[in-house]
Amino acid sequence: MSTNVTNTLQFNCTTCPSECLLTVEVERDVNGSVTAARSVTGNRCPRGDKFAHQELTCPMRVLTTTVAVFGGDEALLPVRTAEAIPLALHAQAMDLIRGLVVDAPIRMGDVVLEDLLNTGIDLIASMNIDPA
Ligand code: SF4
Repeated sequence: MSTNVTNTLQFNCTTCPSECLLTVEVERDVNGSVTAARSVTGNRCPRGDKFAHQELTCPMRVLTTTVAVFGGDEALLPVRTAEAIPLALHAQAMDLIRGLVVDAPIRMGDVVLEDLLNTGIDLIASMNIDPA
């Protein structure tokens, strides 16, 4: 006899600006961990179904933060990952990024850190910074 239980979750798909409200029926094991997504509804396109499964197994987010600048007309440079990375890596990534100092000038889109935590995703500048 299976001891798994099912329940329903609701969250928004963040893949596009429509932000469809997804209703996902999930199966959980005795420890409460999600073992399967049984059904996804509320998505207006197939990407919502993919998002729901990703969200339940390995949620991904774009990381945005700032790094210190040396010799620039601004003290801090806004940066972001070029694509979403696993949410589980964000704290570790922040530990790494906190110690970074970049030299001005910097152009938007410049790579600040290649292959962040071996994700294959670069950390890039989100604005221009000119020399002081
Ligand atoms: S389900 Fe499709 S239309 Fe809805 S938010 Fe996700 S990507 Fe956009």
